[in-house]
Amino acid sequence: MSRIDKYFKLNMNSATKQKTSGGCGCGSTSGTCKPQNQETAVKTTSCSCGSDSKSCRSHQEKSPISDEEFFKGAIDAAIGDERKKDGFDQVFDVKMDRRNAFKKLTASLLIGAGAVSSCTSIVSSNESKEKSQIDWEEQFKGNYKLMGDNEKKATVDRLVRSYQLRTGKNISMSSKNAEDDVLFGYAFNISKCQGYMDCVSACVEENNQDRNSQMQYIRIHEMKDGKGFNFNEADDNYYYEVPAEGHFYMGTQCFHCDNPPCVEVCPVQATWREDDGLVVVDYDWCVGCRYCMAACPYDGRRFNWSKPEVPEEEVNKTQHYLGNRMRKKGVVEKCTFCVQRSRAGENPACVEACPTGARVFGNLLDPDSTIRWVLENKKVFRLKEDLGTEPKFWYFID
Ligand code: SF4
Ligand code: SF4
Repeated sequence: MSRIDKYFKLNMNSATKQKTSGGCGCGSTSGTCKPQNQETAVKTTSCSCGSDSKSCRSHQEKSPISDEEFFKGAIDAAIGDERKKDGFDQVFDVKMDRRNAFKKLTASLLIGAGAVSSCTSIVSSNESKEKSQIDWEEQFKGNYKLMGDNEKKATVDRLVRSYQLRTGKNISMSSKNAEDDVLFGYAFNISKCQGYMDCVSACVEENNQDRNSQMQYIRIHEMKDGKGFNFNEADDNYYYEVPAEGHFYMGTQCFHCDNPPCVEVCPVQATWREDDGLVVVDYDWCVGCRYCMAACPYDGRRFNWSKPEVPEEEVNKTQHYLGNRMRKKGVVEKCTFCVQRSRAGENPACVEACPTGARVFGNLLDPDSTIRWVLENKKVFRLKEDLGTEPKFWYFID
């Protein structure tokens, strides 16, 4: 057994680059593959010729629908009827009958018609045409996982321009790939955590999480001394001064499993493990089926039941395509170990924010890293090791 295997019990071979093929499984190449589940509509407005918008065909102005309408339509098409079912049924009883398939096909054709109409209209402004062009290209872009570097760069540039056109503000968005010889890992010192939840707040701000639903990737579980790690009896919503006497605290989030069951079950390959070990989601490829949520044994994923809202002045404008860029309603999201920071050589926001130093992050393949020191010198353990998921998140006690 190698030294690395001894300490991490990870299959380090899986950390080596896995080349992706040009096809995505649908039979098309990545360049020609088109998503099936997005829809739009054509809106008519009143016309200055004196006729009402319905009767005046020649002066109808067709414009792309708003994001909100677009995603409402997409969600309705994908899971509209399923919403009435309870959570378990919703996860396991998603259907695609011929009627739904026809609705989705029609919707895609409509968005195309709307975009073409706006692009060729003599009354639309240049910005409006550019926006329509971007919407068109976004509608038919491929899965990020299968894109080459140039395609990734073009996709990111398009989103940056789209944000500028919609808000008048600039963002920076990275498409930086995993680096060779990097495998990210995380350790949590249970003795040091005092339950302050500074990590939770920092995560929400860093990752542009929805302020209305108060979605949080990190949970801090308050547990009673002497009762072991009992998650069933843990309090995850305490609202009093901490640390509470007779209690200890334990954080959970996505553990970036080396053998992630969430990836296995995704029917459209919208989630995958990157070469540096980060398990990521292409938010534009996710169809919101939530199979991954059902498969995750660690409650690591969250679903957007509504369009995430972040006040413009609070938006973190340093983003990564696979990380904290603005998400949609109806898709799954999760911790990415702050890919926008970690691939830039920084600690995740939760590590930076923790006032007690309970969180340790680093490159498992670097023998001089702090994470390696922890794994080599502390008694570490992982949750549900018997499942074989190989989480890259360890716990230890001083
Ligand atoms: Fe997937 Fe859950 Fe593991 Fe994260 S913790 S990689 S969501 S199985
Ligand atoms: Fe379904 Fe999850 Fe894949 Fe999205 S990432 S398509 S919710 S399994």
